[in-house]
Amino acid sequence: MAVKWVGIDFGQCLMEPTGLRTYLLLGDVLKAQGRPERIPEVLRKFRIVVEAHGGHSLLKESHRDKIHSIVFGGDDEAMELFNSMEKDYLSVGEGAEEALTYMNEQGLSVNIVAELKKTLGKVGKDAVSRFLNGKKLIKHFECMYTPQGKIDLKSGSIDESYKGKTKESGQLYERLVEELKGRGIKPGEMLMVGDKIETDINPSRRLGIKAVQYTGYIDQGPSEADYRVSSFFELKDLLKGMIA
Ligand SMILES: [Mg+2]
Repeated sequence: MAVKWVGIDFGQCLMEPTGLRTYLLLGDVLKAQGRPERIPEVLRKFRIVVEAHGGHSLLKESHRDKIHSIVFGGDDEAMELFNSMEKDYLSVGEGAEEALTYMNEQGLSVNIVAELKKTLGKVGKDAVSRFLNGKKLIKHFECMYTPQGKIDLKSGSIDESYKGKTKESGQLYERLVEELKGRGIKPGEMLMVGDKIETDINPSRRLGIKAVQYTGYIDQGPSEADYRVSSFFELKDLLKGMIA
């Protein structure tokens, strides 16, 4: 089997969040602003927002604007500090650098496919690019596909045809299959790697894309994924077997 294109989910896959440390990060932001007395109030607002949006990862992936509007009360400077300091608290999935390098060497197209529904700032200023830049991983990637559009990570240009299309609905993958068809790549030559069954595995598999369930951070349990890996080292081995 030939693999030509790889899509990697962001949250809890390529990027391992350390949710509880957000409290430390919020404290750091306020200290940097010289307003440590506001820490208890901001932490309280954050707890409420986390609760209201179904946990840390959902808040940070889909309702990030609430951190700006509610937690920081619309303070742009605080949000800017939060965004730039955040990457120091996030880590990379085990073996990611090695697997990405391997995929590049094999000439595969390597991409991020993330369910980021709200505007997170300009390209290059958004949370994903900041993280990729901070971890020096951006060079490995071609594009970032999100419901806000497809972003070419080399040129920064945005393809609006992906706008409003989510992973969960399957529309983002449908558009992807259509785009790659034009480049001579079939669904069976596409690999989607992610942790979430309802956004990464089921909707991609339905279209014939090979789905890899990543269990390195959270194991969502049994699924119909074609493969399972518990680290990026395992992903590399999996690809080796496919390419050989
Ligand atoms: Mg995820």
